[in-house]
Amino acid sequence: MAEPPSSPPQPSNAGRPAPRPPFADLGLPVLTVQALRREGFTDPRPIQDAAIPDALAGRDVLGRAPTGSGKTLAFGLPMLARLAGRPAIPRAPRGLVLAPTRELALQIERALEPFALGLRLGTAVGGLPTARQAEKLLRGVDLLIATPGRLTDLVEQGAAVLDSVQVTVLDEADHMADFGFLPQVRRLLDATPADGQRLLFSATLDDDSVQDLVRHYLRNPVTHSVAPEPAAAVAVHHLLFVDTADKPAVLARIAAREGRTLMFVRTQYGAEKLTRRLRDEGIAVAALHGGKAQNRRLRTLAAFADGAVSTLVATDIAARGIHVDAVSLVVHADPPTSPKDYVHRAGRTARAGAAGTVVTVVTPDQRAEVSALIQAAEVETVTHSVRPADRQLQQLTGARAPAVTPAAAQPAARDRVRPPRGSGQPRRVSGSAPARRPHRRRAR
Ligand code: ADP
Ligand code: MG
Repeated sequence: MAEPPSSPPQPSNAGRPAPRPPFADLGLPVLTVQALRREGFTDPRPIQDAAIPDALAGRDVLGRAPTGSGKTLAFGLPMLARLAGRPAIPRAPRGLVLAPTRELALQIERALEPFALGLRLGTAVGGLPTARQAEKLLRGVDLLIATPGRLTDLVEQGAAVLDSVQVTVLDEADHMADFGFLPQVRRLLDATPADGQRLLFSATLDDDSVQDLVRHYLRNPVTHSVAPEPAAAVAVHHLLFVDTADKPAVLARIAAREGRTLMFVRTQYGAEKLTRRLRDEGIAVAALHGGKAQNRRLRTLAAFADGAVSTLVATDIAARGIHVDAVSLVVHADPPTSPKDYVHRAGRTARAGAAGTVVTVVTPDQRAEVSALIQAAEVETVTHSVRPADRQLQQLTGARAPAVTPAAAQPAARDRVRPPRGSGQPRRVSGSAPARRPHRRRAR
């Protein structure tokens, strides 16, 4: 209906210059546009549309867009275009991408390889021999994609020098902050020329330490923020009204579900207490809070990521460190203290467009507080009154009876209750009566 009614029917491109692939409109080199077509990329994503022209023009860019929205090419294509045509310098990359994890760094390299324009890409990540990376740097790498830890090692050994870096990208800056990498990141940025171009990308920009980085290291940046925060947009939110006496059983049944579950509590003590109780019911659970050392927290996260732990009980502060995909349920076991916390907690599920559910367990004394909070967070919720064995609770969350009933757990409470491996009993069929006989979690 965009056409005025009087205009005659005509081909959609009439009156415009000869049709060009939309990517070409962004000012990218012809070779890049051809490579994009070969790779099957026809239309730029919104963040690419927004950020590429500014990055090509040499501006500092601050980009916020949800996971999966195409940020890699948004920074990678203009970066490669700007670096193209000049020779590599031994040990001194001219482009640098910092990423929080080894997997992400390798993924970025793979994603940019088809658009390299003859430039040499290299990675500096943990878990691979340092010597090999140092050798490659010595031969000359134009664009280095690195994790802060390994790059710091290489710089300290003299294998990498950052004073020729013209363009630096900080990818997933929010996760860099979560993993405690910012001090290293700052030192690395300090080793690059102060007048270099810097691009910072993140799924969220509301973290204070990320804001600090922006203030210190970006000059007059253009901000491109596309689409709302991912989680708030796609997750389904429920309020579960429960009797105070039912709350422990409701939480245990939810924690016993299949799939990755993240439960939020307000205090470290609360996290420990709930974790112990759930563990006593045979649930593969771990606590994540600020009272644990950083390397313990990372180990716990790794166990959650590979499925050894299926339910994580976390405090708000520790949750900033959670970057695990496929968390299918977020449970506010204690209501959050602020609308911002609600959004942060909820943002741990429904990442990258995956489905996700957020439930808030609300006792009668918490109803007024929670309803005010939900309103302030501007989230649409559906309210249900549930009891532990209700079918509705099961349908909403996948809740099921835990492996060990509280009565059975009493004598064994001091030991870890662990189902023997391979004692696979059939799982309870959906909708059947609460099991008298405890089921076992499948051993992975
Ligand atoms: P982000 O870094 O924002 O999480 P990625 O850069 O990893 O997202 O991209 C997510 C997926 O989208 C990748 O599989 C990528 O190949 C694809 N993608 C990126 N840009 C486009 C595009 N313009 N058209 C189609 N697919 C794209
Ligand atoms: Mg990315």
